[in-house]
Amino acid sequence: MQEDLKYLLELSSVDKKVHELKQTRRDLPVRIQTLKNAIGSEKARLDNLMAEITDTQTKIRDNQDAVATETQLLQESSKRLDNISTNREYDAVHLEIAAHKKNIDTANASVLHFQQILENLQKDLTQVETDYQTVRDANEPELKTLTEELNGIEDRIADEAKLAGEPRSKISKKVLTLYDRIVQRRNTPYIIAAVNHHHKFCDVCSRSQTPQRIIEVGKKISLLTCESCGSLLVWRED
Ligand SMILES: [Zn+2]
Repeated sequence: MQEDLKYLLELSSVDKKVHELKQTRRDLPVRIQTLKNAIGSEKARLDNLMAEITDTQTKIRDNQDAVATETQLLQESSKRLDNISTNREYDAVHLEIAAHKKNIDTANASVLHFQQILENLQKDLTQVETDYQTVRDANEPELKTLTEELNGIEDRIADEAKLAGEPRSKISKKVLTLYDRIVQRRNTPYIIAAVNHHHKFCDVCSRSQTPQRIIEVGKKISLLTCESCGSLLVWRED
């Protein structure tokens, strides 16, 4: 029984480690996604702003082009004034000239309007770039670590689980079956409570064990369970 208990504790420690790793495997994707989201939302802000800047620059260029085109047309219309023979033609050309001038004014006003917008966007850009860099500096190192941890976790679980073979082979069938049954029922390897005269309560459910029970556990000749939660009671060495 002494040997059984020794290897049972060894097995329990391996199983607990595997359990923790599996817990980590479950938790890591959520933590990784949270970090990615934090970076992603700042990246999206930056991308949107860049798109807005490009869009505004295009509008400025389009309006500058319109000014150039209308100026060209205005010159052509003005030239035609020199070769006019009828009043009707004269009125028509003047209408054209007025329209081109109006278009030039409108386009110039738009250029100024969009230049002002561009200036403000470029001020925002400095801030948004800083925010993006800040969130990356804050989250990327952890993201890298956690991603590597997740990538390697299957191997770590497999390696750790292999270590259970040795203690398993040395525990008597009766004790091993009992242990496995409780682990399976509770779906956790945290089913062993170590007690002694100074530490009388069950580590799992906190129920205080009777002095008689403590004495029995101390004899190390039979495997007792906590009456409250069914955890295996083993002797706590000081
Ligand atoms: Zn208990």
